[in-house]
Amino acid sequence: MSKPRVFVTRIMPAAGLDRVREACNAEIWSGEMPPPYETLREKVRGVDGLLCMLTDRIDGQLMDAAGPGLKVISQMAVGYDNIDVPAAQVRGIPIGHTPGVLTEATADLAFGLLLAAARRIVEGANYIQDGQWRTWDPNALLGRDLSGATLGIIGLGRIGRAVARRAAGFNMRILAYSPSLTFESAAEVNAVAVDLETLLRESDFVSLHLPLNARTRHLINRVTLSQMKANAILVNTARGGIIDHAALVEALRSGIIGGAALDVTDPEPISPDDPLLSLPNALVVPHIGSASQWTRDQMARMAAENLIAGVTGQPLPNRVPTG
Ligand code: NAP
Repeated sequence: MSKPRVFVTRIMPAAGLDRVREACNAEIWSGEMPPPYETLREKVRGVDGLLCMLTDRIDGQLMDAAGPGLKVISQMAVGYDNIDVPAAQVRGIPIGHTPGVLTEATADLAFGLLLAAARRIVEGANYIQDGQWRTWDPNALLGRDLSGATLGIIGLGRIGRAVARRAAGFNMRILAYSPSLTFESAAEVNAVAVDLETLLRESDFVSLHLPLNARTRHLINRVTLSQMKANAILVNTARGGIIDHAALVEALRSGIIGGAALDVTDPEPISPDDPLLSLPNALVVPHIGSASQWTRDQMARMAAENLIAGVTGQPLPNRVPTG
């Protein structure tokens, strides 16, 4: 029997790629950059399965270009805002993703960004590199304490809860908001469930851990930024589109908030001459939340398992919820 035909949009870790190659007749895009949309439309023609990344736009037209044989879209990420989920649903195509395995790595990075911004770690390293360090200075590079400060977590799901566990170890007070959050479930991670406005008003640090969708796009905007403390630090390891970028630049420039530490931006990559990058109170890293070796191996393995299940007519082990 011939193997199912699949297209994989990037070279991913061998932990997943080897499984795909074993089970499928696979074409793998070997470019350093993602395939352009038009190329991807050509490449998916007639495939049984597509394994994609968050850098690929997967819409109804692309699904139609693949044709009626497309049995699965398997994304190597937990977020899937790049995929038109309703379009897949009406065409009866299940979508796979990789929840859970990247929770701890992403929470580590969120907490790392929080610490780096609070204690001005990158600024300190640059200070030495620029040859400015002449003596121990009682007044230089003074930052903010974590102990006793309030952390507000927007989106107390898998990653939000993992961040809360870290914050408890640093003796922080934790507030949390998500639409269906109960007091009991927040208390499991030493957090107090509050409404969004209270969280923004009372937090010294705000960390975002919610998905990007039509309801959450620009949740952090001119109005919500102005509800935050004037010295608050905003951390985003979720998706860039949750923040109104122009409003954030303005808020950082004019002292409406104290600082921002971002793993994700809108757009990605951020332009090297974006005004955000010249602000001393902004720290930006290139979407590396899940970028640990173990985590990426697990993500590749899960994405391969979802793909293979889909093309062989089995239920996906990790299917994006619908409805
Ligand atoms: P999850 O377990 O599904 O948690 C998402 C949480 O967001 C849930 O608690 C949900 O609450 C909440 N939420 C949904 N809509 C909300 C809203 N309007 N306001 C506030 N909270 C809302 O997802 P996860 O695994 O923690 O991942 C979270 C996100 O992180 C992903 O969607 C992805 O975009 C991002 N991520 C980024 C990286 C990176 O590399 N930087 C890595 C992994 C994940 P309800 O249950 O009440 O709806």
